[in-house]
Amino acid sequence: MSDIQKTTLDWPRIARLLQPVETIDDPVTVKKRSRDFFWYSPILNAELRRSFGDLVARPKSREELAHCLAVAFAEEVPVVLRGGGTGNYGQAVPLRGGLIIETTAMNRILEIGEGFVRVEAGALMADINAALAPRGWEMAMFPSTQDIATVGGFVAGGSAGIGSIANGPLRQKGNIVQLKALSVEAQPVEHVFDAEAALQIHHAWGLNGAITEVTLRTVPLRDWVGCMAGFDSYRDCYAAGYALASAPETEIARKLCSVVDARIVDYFRRLEAQVPKGHHLLVTLVPREQMGALQALVDAFGGTLHLAMDEAERQAAKLPHVFEFAYNHTTLQVLKSDRSATYQQIGVPDPADADRVAAMRDRQGGEVWPHHEFTRVEGVVAAADLPIIWFRDAARLAEINATYEADGFTVYDAHVHVIEGNHMQPDYRHLAWKKRLDPKGLLNPGKSLEWEKVRHLPAEDIEALAGLGGATNEN
Ligand SMILES: Cc1cc2nc3c(=O)[nH]c(=O)nc-3n(C[C@H](O)[C@H](O)[C@H](O)COP(=O)(O)OP(=O)(O)OC[C@H]3O[C@@H](n4cnc5c(N)ncnc54)[C@H](O)[C@@H]3O)c2cc1C
Repeated sequence: MSDIQKTTLDWPRIARLLQPVETIDDPVTVKKRSRDFFWYSPILNAELRRSFGDLVARPKSREELAHCLAVAFAEEVPVVLRGGGTGNYGQAVPLRGGLIIETTAMNRILEIGEGFVRVEAGALMADINAALAPRGWEMAMFPSTQDIATVGGFVAGGSAGIGSIANGPLRQKGNIVQLKALSVEAQPVEHVFDAEAALQIHHAWGLNGAITEVTLRTVPLRDWVGCMAGFDSYRDCYAAGYALASAPETEIARKLCSVVDARIVDYFRRLEAQVPKGHHLLVTLVPREQMGALQALVDAFGGTLHLAMDEAERQAAKLPHVFEFAYNHTTLQVLKSDRSATYQQIGVPDPADADRVAAMRDRQGGEVWPHHEFTRVEGVVAAADLPIIWFRDAARLAEINATYEADGFTVYDAHVHVIEGNHMQPDYRHLAWKKRLDPKGLLNPGKSLEWEKVRHLPAEDIEALAGLGGATNEN
């Protein structure tokens, strides 16, 4: 199904044109930089594992990035922007070969102010948090991949993370303060997208501009304690998670609220000394002064607090962050032991209904193990299930999806490598800006089916279609 088409360009010549930008043509490195975490999905793995770029460029500044884009425009070179390469749907995989522009050398932290941080797009999320901490701030949210993911990759490919239960997803008003992005033209122009306008670039998978600079909301840093509580029944664990997610900030200002099936917990090898096997886990981060409230909540739902460590204690014990057992790290913990596992992304219709969640768990049986993440969208609690699925074949996966859908759960298919994945409408705001910033359609070709249909239209006409859609993939 993959539309792999190799380029037939003179790559040594392109590399010369790109000078003084550093380029890498060593085939092993180019192949490595052509991959992300699509292999979580056996379906995407079969489709994408033979898709490679031709050359890697590593610009060190906005000017060097602009030079790369100008050369790409003149020579009609397909371009894929790449940060840490931690996306799960092959977003950073070059489907048509071409130039991979890796942004990690554009990593300066430019400004830290009251409630915001302004950085270059290739800055690592963990480095940003490390720079903020001594000033008493942290990012309003960040992905569990903060050690290798870039901020540009997060706003272009991610959607939510640690902090989203308090501060909402990235797309929530105020979370992205400003984005700057370069066009792909003879003389690339830097465009500035303030506040709501940033959604026209956010989560566009690098299709409609090369992000140079990101300004994100920050929040006061608190003395967080990473906690894990065990429960005998998944229903009670989920109900405790929902109660924690719904609690007023003044009672428990948690910045993570995850519920993990005991069968998954058995794969958490690094926690064997801390967490007994056979229990469903509530994984959270709460401020130290609210630990009493958390203990009371855990008691009320019949659970036991097994682990409570602040950052210093965690480092002394040489343990991973608790969020490395949440979000898509939960899947990774299982995949480290057994590559026959995969996952799915499921929207829970009524997050308050623990009975319905428990009934779905029973219905799916032994090959589907649930793991729920709670977030808040504009203050309203939402729940998503990222279950482990023991993969047999695509047909069986479709049956599992149908079981969810038959009871009103929404499947946001994680096994699709185009931005208009299952259940998603084309985002015409994204595509209108693609027309303006990337008129030759060189950025991440093949990742938008809708682009191929509308690329001949003027940007204003594409934008006029926006009333028909606007949703983007979740992750
Ligand atoms: C174990 C695991 C856990 C994860 N947890 C989370 C999570 O908690 N929350 C979440 O949202 N996601 C999560 N993800 C997905 C992913 O890690 C994040 O979205 C991450 O922030 C992506 O950053 P990156 O630098 O790796 O981006 P990449 O994978 O390099 O790129 C992602 C997309 O952004 C584009 N892009 C990159 N840089 C630019 C740029 N400068 N300009 C324009 N486009 C650009 C790429 O072309 C690609 O389409 C997880 C993935 C894994 C494997």
